[in-house]
Amino acid sequence: MKLGVYPGTFDPITHGHTDIIARSLRVFDRIIVAVAHNPSKRPIFDVAERVEMVKLVTKDFAHVNVEAFDGLLVDYVRRHEAHAVIRGLRATSDFEYEFQMALINRKLDDKVETVFLMPSEEYSYLTSSIIKEVASLGGALKDFVHPEVAERLRHRLRRPIQ
Ligand code: ADP
Repeated sequence: MKLGVYPGTFDPITHGHTDIIARSLRVFDRIIVAVAHNPSKRPIFDVAERVEMVKLVTKDFAHVNVEAFDGLLVDYVRRHEAHAVIRGLRATSDFEYEFQMALINRKLDDKVETVFLMPSEEYSYLTSSIIKEVASLGGALKDFVHPEVAERLRHRLRRPIQ
């Protein structure tokens, strides 16, 4: 039974994240989506709201659990006896940061492997930050996020419905 942990801020979950979850289910038997508190990133949704949205978006996937997490990722991975950390790699912008994180995590615990998955091309430019920007300017969100997530973004950013 191969278990993967997919950590992130998910502020909010986009189709890019969902694409990575779907792909990781081809490699792992079970996935835990670990939603980090990450106050340093100043998320617009609190962790409970982010967990709720990930649960909603992944409700039709079997073998996906969603949890909030705080603290060191390697401790979390060890505690759950997971086999690997899953991260998504977009175009080129993610590489340096992801490389650094993977090597630091390996230094902290050399049994923790990181697996990188590439999203579908259509999502390779998608970030939660750009979606928040589009939402705050009143742009259409339907190609990027689940309709309920779009609704919550509009509500949070107090823009009229498109
Ligand atoms: P973090 O703050 O940990 O980077 P994010 O929620 O921004 O959290 O991203 C979590 C993971 O999902 C990261 O590995 C990120 O590269 C990946 N990811 C985010 N958006 C996409 C996307 N559009 N395509 C592929 N991977 C993505």
